[in-house]
Amino acid sequence: MSGEVLAGSCLCGSVAYHVRAPYLQFAHCHCRRCRKATGSGHATNLYVERPNFEWVRGEELTARFDLPSAKSFATTFCRNCGSPLPHHTRSGRIVVVPAGSLDDEPSISPQARIFWESRAEWSCSDAAPTFVAYPEWWK
Ligand SMILES: [Zn+2]
Ligand SMILES: [Zn+2]
Repeated sequence: MSGEVLAGSCLCGSVAYHVRAPYLQFAHCHCRRCRKATGSGHATNLYVERPNFEWVRGEELTARFDLPSAKSFATTFCRNCGSPLPHHTRSGRIVVVPAGSLDDEPSISPQARIFWESRAEWSCSDAAPTFVAYPEWWK
């Protein structure tokens, strides 16, 4: 996986980036802040050292939010479509890449579920049936 380069972009495609292995970690984060920031049961992030990340286009369309009450919690998103994008930590050393924004498949799978005690009761704790698309009731 060393040297592997993954492409990523936002929902509208205005912002794009490249991230390069080696990865520090690939993890699901169930903390309350990640749940709020993603609107989902957990965030799934790929962590890399900053030199392994670069914007390809649209960096000027990104906006960053630093949570004032946190020592180091931030989000970055596309101003056009609102979807989450990578951001560097406050120390500037690490870039947190929301895995859902990747266009390519990483060669590794998530290695950890962190802040497991903070998870929502309904998140990742059941075996719901799977469907290829929307279920019947959606029509
Ligand atoms: Zn966008
Ligand atoms: Zn989190």
